[in-house]
Amino acid sequence: MIAIDERGYYGEFGGAYIPEMLYPNIEELRRHYVQLMEEPAFQREFRQLLKDYVGRPSPLYLAERLSEHYKATIYLKREDLNHTGAHKINNTVGQILMAKRLGKTRIIAETGAGQHGVATATVCALMGIRCIVYMGAVDIKRQAPNVSRMRMLGAEVRPATSGSQTLKDATNEAIRDWINNPEDTHYIIGSVVGPHPYPDMVARFQSVISEEMKWQLEEHTGRENPDAIIACVGGGSNAAGAYYHYLNDAGVRLIAVEAAGHGIHSGESAATSVLGTKGIIHGSRTLLMQTRDGQIIEPYSLSAGLDYPGIGPLHAHLIASGRAEAISITDDEALASAYFLSRKEGIIPALETAHAFAALDKMEYRPDDVIVVCLSGRGDKDLDTYIRHFERFQK
Ligand SMILES: *Cc1c(COP(=O)(O)O)cnc(C)c1O
Repeated sequence: MIAIDERGYYGEFGGAYIPEMLYPNIEELRRHYVQLMEEPAFQREFRQLLKDYVGRPSPLYLAERLSEHYKATIYLKREDLNHTGAHKINNTVGQILMAKRLGKTRIIAETGAGQHGVATATVCALMGIRCIVYMGAVDIKRQAPNVSRMRMLGAEVRPATSGSQTLKDATNEAIRDWINNPEDTHYIIGSVVGPHPYPDMVARFQSVISEEMKWQLEEHTGRENPDAIIACVGGGSNAAGAYYHYLNDAGVRLIAVEAAGHGIHSGESAATSVLGTKGIIHGSRTLLMQTRDGQIIEPYSLSAGLDYPGIGPLHAHLIASGRAEAISITDDEALASAYFLSRKEGIIPALETAHAFAALDKMEYRPDDVIVVCLSGRGDKDLDTYIRHFERFQK
């Protein structure tokens, strides 16, 4: 049975390793989050916004040309069609309602690809709440359109200029901000990472993905369960959402796809499940890329949403226990798969999502297998990258 325990652990992974200054905030959240989110009034408001504002349910689309190519039945869970273009909005809608109920008047967030920043800025605009987004200076450059969107939505984007100037550094800055503003501020974490109760809370908000998959598959195929679910894993929130209601169905293979950058052992990678060892990062015990003496190894991936040196504790547990299978995909494999999907199905995926699709080349199937790929986001934000590499992939 895969479930979080009272102290916030999945097996040996999770917990809340936090500075004393944050204790009141985290403890307040921990004590109330399940009760608050299960209240009928909360659920009513959450469900209404998911339907009318986000545009859910997101379709489950039978990809016929892809199915023909891979000789299996392949469905795409279309999180790319959500308002703001990815799954991230499911979580930010949930958390802004949580923040309101906790009486918070100021929101902070961290962002890598900018998708979580945009999703946070969006719900803050919706609720008329002040929003500050921390983003690595390098990411600000490579995800310029999303930076503009956040500013357009009224958020303040603050660059993180330490370390690799990417997601982990933005996270450090956000935590520092929260320590300094514990009273009025809620920190909207963008994935199933961070101290308990964040990983569980975010997984619950994202679990709407697999909740819908169940009845949609039943409608399409006559059974609720696919044979495999494929999702890319940065921190692991779209994967957690796509797996959630299948975690304890051993017949459903869970495939977690990580970014191998220039190659798993190239020194430029973000393949945490292969390279990671047990340690603590951003408040939870999990697998992370670190040197022998505990220094974080700078992760690398062409996709800004996947270059994180850790993975959420749920995924560390799923991989360590053998429940999920990890597949690593290089930059070039992801790019090739993005061009392929665009031409096969007329869908330009986010670069993160392209990693999930590339895993289709590395799996074995039976002809009657039903496979769901979580199409976590659309590729508009990555067009510059796609165009830059375009020639190299035209054969
Ligand atoms: C942020 C992002 C990811 C990675 O984050 P997870 O928490 O692992 O889901 C994947 N795909 C897209 C489109 C994203 O924006």
